[in-house]
Order: sequence, then structure tokens, then C-alpha cells
Amino acid sequence: MVDQVVERRPEGGWDGFDGWLAAQSALLGPGRVRLPDEPRGNIGMFASRRVRAVLRPTGVDQVQQIVVAATRADPPVPLYPVSTGRNWGLGSREPVGDGAVLLELADLDRIRHLDPSAGVAVIEPGVTQARLAARLDGTPRMLNLTSSSAHTSVLGNALDRGVGVRRQRCDDLLGLEVVLADGSLMRLGSWPDSRGRAVAYRHELGPALMPLFAQSGLGVITAAAVHLLPRPETLRVIRLAFPRGRLREAMDELRTYHAQRLVTGVPKVYLDTTPGHGEAFCCLDGDADLVTASQAALCRRALASGLFTWVKQVDPADVDVDRAVTTTLARHSGDPSLGEDAFEASFGTPADRVDRDGEHGFLMFLPLVPFDGAALDHAYALVRQVQADTGTIWRVTLNALSPDLVDFVTWASFPREHAPAAHRALGLLHERFAEAGWRPYRLDIDHMHLTGALNGCTRREQLMDRLKDLLDPAHILSPGRYESAAGNLATGCYESAARNSITDITPAG
Ligand SMILES: Cc1cc2nc3c(=O)[nH]c(=O)nc-3n(C[C@H](O)[C@H](O)[C@H](O)COP(=O)(O)OP(=O)(O)OC[C@H]3O[C@@H](n4cnc5c(N)ncnc54)[C@H](O)[C@@H]3O)c2cc1C
Repeated sequence: MVDQVVERRPEGGWDGFDGWLAAQSALLGPGRVRLPDEPRGNIGMFASRRVRAVLRPTGVDQVQQIVVAATRADPPVPLYPVSTGRNWGLGSREPVGDGAVLLELADLDRIRHLDPSAGVAVIEPGVTQARLAARLDGTPRMLNLTSSSAHTSVLGNALDRGVGVRRQRCDDLLGLEVVLADGSLMRLGSWPDSRGRAVAYRHELGPALMPLFAQSGLGVITAAAVHLLPRPETLRVIRLAFPRGRLREAMDELRTYHAQRLVTGVPKVYLDTTPGHGEAFCCLDGDADLVTASQAALCRRALASGLFTWVKQVDPADVDVDRAVTTTLARHSGDPSLGEDAFEASFGTPADRVDRDGEHGFLMFLPLVPFDGAALDHAYALVRQVQADTGTIWRVTLNALSPDLVDFVTWASFPREHAPAAHRALGLLHERFAEAGWRPYRLDIDHMHLTGALNGCTRREQLMDRLKDLLDPAHILSPGRYESAAGNLATGCYESAARNSITDITPAG
């Protein structure tokens, strides 16, 4: 039974493609193949890519059959898989280049396995933070949540190496189920055995293959084994405010708290919440006595430093704590529900309509900067300079991933008419941070073509090309996604990838 929708041939038609699409429609059933007749919209206000069709499979076997059909088609059909497609600020569900079929995996949404004792869940791409967190409610385990909407995926975020409040999400991945371009299905990393026994250890014996499939176009991921964290017995937040003029010293001081394990998870520092001030949110959790001792030590050091204008200790039982703190406490204890109101308020629409109806644009630039006061001060000055040069407003949130490394989240929320200036600013941020020697760890769709230059090693790129040729010889999977420059040219993504910003990057060093 062929969906009527595929009979609505777009202007000019697609030779052979209609038949291919009709076959996918017969495979997937009614309503699961769409022609992209409505503008998708994306909150980043990136130029919309030309998508040939949107497929929404419901099962792994269907994904395998689609991939085989795409590989064997003449010419082969490029596929761009997404999970929930809410990669806001980096392109949402837009592919990198034109001409791909979007493979939306949000309806593969089973929690296949949950073992709170071993700390392992097996989830499919459509499982959201909200769903997994709800299933863990009342168990001794919790999910490492991000600060994004509860309706974003666990798997897609981890595959792009997103950042949770506890650690980087890729560190939660224990195993991946992968469909290769020839349709074969395999499980990599650590996976529950046929009797459901699981061990929270991610490494295979011998060279590890699983990491090849994060930030990668080598396979379609149909499930992941995810590590669940133990729920802490006690949780506290300490807020530290500092004059922004003392950013350098305050960050050097904060670093010592991280290095001496007086904080847990990923401390966050908001540099632009109050005029002239920055504010750090430090969480402490675990055994009650341990938390009490760490809290006392941290406050003693903070007061003795003379750097902070105030130091507030927050107990979850306090009735007058503000929304930011209760949301932080909730996220750290695995509850994503509280952030949703703030999310809707700032975007003027619920998560599922943000890309279509969002009132403002939203962009992110995500470089890694050493956890060093002077470096962070300089990085912040670069952002301020780009603001001044473009007349746009960018804010900075620091995620302290370790005592040595900061995820320097630089983001802008802007009215639609400021989109060209915001994109110009994004290009400048890429250039200026590259000159300073600080690379992003995640890229938006307009800057994916910089992957090779940013990695700065031609032999690495050649190895990547060989792996791509081996695993996906027709180059159909996720064209342009973190590919080498040659790979981008081979799949024709380069031209459209560079359309919003013409950025020429020469990384320092
Ligand atoms: C207010 C706000 C706060 C945010 N906070 C955070 C935060 O704290 N941490 C953070 O990391 N991000 C954050 N984000 C960014 C973003 O919303 C999240 O990263 C979100 O989880 C990504 O969308 P997704 O889960 O739907 O992933 P997707 O968009 O589905 O996936 C991301 C990319 O991974 C690839 N991919 C996904 N699934 C597959 C698959 N099955 N097979 C092969 N490739 C695949 C695709 O190329 C896709 O484009 C924030 C955004 C906003 C607006």
C-alpha cells in the first residue's frame, strides 16, 4: 500500500527516487513517509536544507531495510538519522547539506532493559530524559540530566557528546547497537547478555570500536546501553557571587575546589546573570557527614579568599530558595521536570514547537578552554569583542568538566531580524577562538566542514576517509557530519555547509 503522499512529485521530479520512496512507504505503512512540504524551521535560524523526504520507522528491522535500500539504490540515497532532532542552537533536525532523506528515529522509543542494581538501562533513540527519569523514580539510580528540555533524547545528545550536570554524556555510554550501511546489525561496547545480565563497563576486549560511532557518520544507532548513576543520600548547592572584574582570580580559586574534590558533578558558572557579577553554582553530594565536611571546607576557603561578594549555602529543605536553585537541585537528583516552565517561558512555546513557532532565535558556540583564570578571562574578552564588532548579545555559561577543562558555552538568544548578525558573530567566534588555540568539541551544521581543519592532522583525516570507504562505501550515512574535507566534497555537502558563514579557520599550534 503506497502512501498517497509520495505521489505528490515535487517540481522537476526525482528520477528513480519516487519508486524508492514508494517502496519505503510500503515498508513503513501509512503516514510514515512525508514529503517536506512544510517549512521545518529551526530555532538556530540556519538556512533550511533541501530534504527529499522524511521517514519515521518504528522498528530496528525497518531501519536495516531502509539502509540497505538506500545503499543499493542507483544513485544511492543519502540518509540523515536523528533521534528527537532537538539539537537546538546547532541546527536542530537540519542535515548538514542538501539532498538527504531525514530518518527520524523518535518512534523507536522503547526502554528495552532496566537494571537499577547493575546501573544499566538499554534505550532506543526516541527515549527522552523525561521518560527514563520517570522510570527511575523511586529506584536507587538516576540519569545524568542535561539542562535542556526534558523532551530531548538521551541517545542523540550522548552521540553528539553533550554535557550533563554530572559529566559529559558520552561517558554515560556503555554500549551501542549499530546498523551499518550494508544493513548488518551489531552491538559494541558492553551489552546485557542473553539472560539480561549487565555489567557497567564500557570497554570491549582489544581496541574499542564503540567510540567510532559518536560524532560520526559510520552507522545508524538504534539503541544504547546507558550507565545510571547512584542516587546521592544528601545534596546541597553553594552559590558564590563574584565581581566580573575578578573573573580570573575567582576561577583560579574555584578550580582548587574542584581539584580537591569539594564539589561533585559539573559546577556551573553563569557570567552574565546579574550586571557586573558572575555566579557559580557548586553541588556537593553523597554521604551526609561527607557533604557537611565538604560544605564547611568550601565555605571557609571561599570566605578566606576575599573574592566572593556573597556565599550562600542552600539546603533543599529551605522554603525560600529561588527557582534557579530548586531547578539545579532537582536536575542533580535526576528530576528534569522543574526546568520545563522556564524553558517554555524563555522560548514562548513548548519544546515540541520551538523549531516551528519559537519567538527568538538561539545559537550556541561550544569551545573547550583550560580551567585557568587567565585563559577564561581572555576567552570572555573574545566574546565581548565579537559582541562589540557585530552588535549582537552573547552570554556565557561555564561547565567545569574537570579541574583542567571548561566547556565554555557561548550562546545567543535573538529576535528574528538579528539572525544575519548573530550568524556573522558565530563565524567570528569560530575564527577568534581558533586563533587563540581553543577548539569547539561540538559543531553546528554551518561549521561541520571545519572538522578536518580543526583536528589539524591530515593523516587522521585520511584514516577517517578509509574507514568511511570501508563501512559506508556509497557515503549514504549522515553526509557531512564531522567528516573530513575530502569526505565533505565527496558527498557534496561543502557548498551548502558554508552558506551562512564563509569562515576560514587556521587553528593555532
Ligand atoms: C535552553 C537550552 C539548554 C540546553 N542545555 C544543554 C545541555 O545542558 N547540554 C547539552 O548537551 N545540550 C544542551 N542543549 C542543546 C540541545 O537541546 C541538546 O543537546 C539536545 O539533547 C539535542 O537534541 P536531541 O537530544 O534531540 O538529539 P538529536 O538532535 O536527535 O541528535 C543530535 C545529532 O546526533 C546525530 N544522531 C542522533 N541520533 C542518531 C542516531 N540514532 N544515529 C546516528 N546519528 C544520530 C544526528 O546527527 C543529530 O543531528 C540546550 C539547548 C537549549 C535551547
